[in-house]
Parts: sequence; structure tokens; C-alpha cells
Amino acid sequence: MTPEEIVAVDRAHVWHPYAPMPARSDPYVVESAAGVRLRLADGRELVDGMSSWWAAIHGYRHPVLDAAVTDQLGRMSHVMFGGLTHGPAVELARSLVEITPPGLEHVFLCDSGSVGVEVAVKMALQYQRGRGRPERHRLATWRGGYHGDTFHPMSVCDPVGGMHALWTGVLPRQIFADLPPSGFDAPVDEAYAASLVDAVERHAHELAAVIVEPVVQGAGGMRFHNPAYLRLLREVTAAHDIVLIFDEIATGFGRTGALFAAGHAGVTPDVMCLGKALTGGYLSLAATLCTPAVAAGISATGVLAHGPTFMGNPVACAVANASIGLLKAGNWPGEVSRVRAGLSAGLAPLRGAPGVADVRVLGAIGVVQLDHDVDMAAATAAAVAHGVWLRPFRDLIYTMPPYVTDDEDLARICTAIAAAAAAG
Ligand SMILES: *Cc1c(COP(=O)(O)O)cnc(C)c1O
Repeated sequence: MTPEEIVAVDRAHVWHPYAPMPARSDPYVVESAAGVRLRLADGRELVDGMSSWWAAIHGYRHPVLDAAVTDQLGRMSHVMFGGLTHGPAVELARSLVEITPPGLEHVFLCDSGSVGVEVAVKMALQYQRGRGRPERHRLATWRGGYHGDTFHPMSVCDPVGGMHALWTGVLPRQIFADLPPSGFDAPVDEAYAASLVDAVERHAHELAAVIVEPVVQGAGGMRFHNPAYLRLLREVTAAHDIVLIFDEIATGFGRTGALFAAGHAGVTPDVMCLGKALTGGYLSLAATLCTPAVAAGISATGVLAHGPTFMGNPVACAVANASIGLLKAGNWPGEVSRVRAGLSAGLAPLRGAPGVADVRVLGAIGVVQLDHDVDMAAATAAAVAHGVWLRPFRDLIYTMPPYVTDDEDLARICTAIAAAAAAG
């Protein structure tokens, strides 16, 4: 198909994320990608400021990741996981247990982040049933979160940003604490801390789990908070035997400057969800880890009642192993802090610029918040004109580039963000 045909057929038949049908604007056609660049069908090259939504941390067509996929294809691309097992899945489980916070020992492999969160919720519900408390089936979280697009994850997304009004009477009604106060380095707000603990304690008798994104709330608003609030949640949930779930699907694998964001707080949750960068952005794969205590509670009810057709897909596991291998062999902390320095320097001039409400950087994440909703088409076009791919939403223009993005390309991304902010 020619690029024009691709766009025409796309427009007639293909849904895109969060889009109406037909779509309001035409997508850009990507022909290939290598390193940190997407190559469009018209020959233009764009530095990818999005890592394909947090995932492509090593960039595209990485020779080690390509080889892992090709090697595995030469053995088998898939076999069922019921009654069968294989090296790639077992090796992945072992290394996830090794690199995640101590205490997480058991690994459930599934297809996507949203399903991984469903599995985490199911684990918590079954755990409480196993402990003889079926009445504990609600979830608590704080506002501003994002946990995926299937129904239980949607029920703990921010009620406004997650469009709960559309789902009145459909979504399970969960407990929402206020937004955590902004700022990784901001001092702990004692009044907020007390209200957070109180919200959990008041509902302890009906709560199966507390679920949050640690340190960085991603698609719910790109907000950062003090890790001390996570320690508080750890204490109060432990005191009431409530399962603490950390959704590290966006924050995992170094993005925030710690290998896992839980590390900033020095706590181990009872359940942890991983996805996105797990395969270095090559294939869809997620993992939900839990402690032996959670596993024992679940097993008291019989079995963990989940088993996707493509569970433990060998190709996805093989490339995940290769991606983790690259992290272990390389210097990701150095790369992430270099990206942080580049984004901090490049975005600093936007502080106080017309229309800009806030500029914040943490790890390899840079955020420019406007004082108005961004004109997505105009902002995207302005970034593309500067040779950069960005995907702004709401009042946010942000970047989480591949860790291998060099200083020149980081500067280019910052210039494009400034242009997008001015245009949108
Ligand atoms: C992206 C994301 C999800 C959902 O993952 P999918 O693979 O898109 O289903 C869940 N939680 C967080 C924090 C995410 O960033």
C-alpha cells in the first residue's frame, strides 16, 4: 500500500487510542524505526520523545533485542503455558524476583498492563477470601491515577480524568483519597498524610487493597510526589492486613531514577505490576508479582483463577530477558541522570513563559504543564516541524525519551516542546 492508501484505509476502518470514528485528524505513517528515530513514510525522521509510551527504553532495532527475538523464533514462537513451561519464562521470573524489592517471590505473566492490574486486583480479592473476609472487596487509591482501560483498572483511575461520569452504574465504586501533594522533594504535608491514613483506616473493614502508582502518576496527570507517602501507605495497610499494590507499569526499569519507584521509598508492596518497558518496547507483556503471604492466602481458596491463552509467550519473555540483560550490563543510572540533566537544562527557560503553569523533571521524565488545554494537533505539528515526536494530552506536553538519547537529541526534544507549548 502507498502511504496515501494506508491513511485512507486507516481512516475508514481502524480505531486508534482514545479516538472517535472517524478520527478527527490523520495519523502519521511510520515506515521504520532505528535508534531513537522514527522514519515516516515521506522520509522525515523524528526523534521519539515518547519511547512509544514509556516502553522503548533502549531505542528501536537494538541489535541485542533483535537477536533475542530472532533466536527465539528459531525455537518456538509460542506454546501454551498450562502444563508446559520453558526457559525464557522461567529465566524472566527468576530475574524479576531478583531485581524487584525483596519479598516479591511469585510471578504471574500476562499480556498487557491492564490485564496485569486485573490480576493484581484478583489476587487481592482472592487473598481476602482466603483469609475468610469476602466482605473486603473494595479498593482504595488516591486521585490522579491511571491503571489501565479494562473495567477494574478504570474504576481506580482518576474519577474525572478517567471519565467515570460515562460509567455511572457500571464501574465498581472505589474509595478515593485526595491527590497526593505535588513534588518529589516537597516536604511532607502532615495534614494530607493524616487524611490519607484516615481514609484507609475508615474503610479498612471493606478494603481488599490499596493500589497506587508509586512516585510518578503517569497518564493521570504526570505528577510526582514525595515517597514518604508510600511508606505511610505501607504502614497502614500492613496494620490492617490490606494488600498494597504498586502499579509500576510506567515507572519500572529505571525511568524515575530508581530501578523501581518503590526503591525511592525503600518499601516492598505485597503485589507489584510491571509492563511497558518490560520487553524494551518490543512486544506486549506484563508481570504481576506477589509475596509468599499473598500467594498462601490465594491458594487457601484453591487456585489463582486466571490463565491467558498467550501466558508467558516465549518470544516476549526472551526479549524481556535481553532487555533486562542490557540494563544489568550497561549504566542505566548514568544514562537516566544524563537525560535528567539534559531535560532540566533544556526545559528550564520555559519556566514562567506565557501559558506555562509548571515545568518539572524527575529521572528521565520531563513535563511542561500549560495553564490551558493543549491544542493537540497544533502542538504535535509544531513538534514534528522540529523533528520530534510528542503526544501531548490535556494541559500537558511531556517527554520520556529512550535512555540512549544523546545530548543533541535531548536539546532538540526540548526545543520542540517549547515550540509545541507556543503553538498549542
Ligand atoms: C500504561 C499503564 C497501564 C496499562 O497498560 P496497558 O499495557 O496499556 O494495558 C496500567 N498502569 C499504568 C501505570 C500505566 O502507565
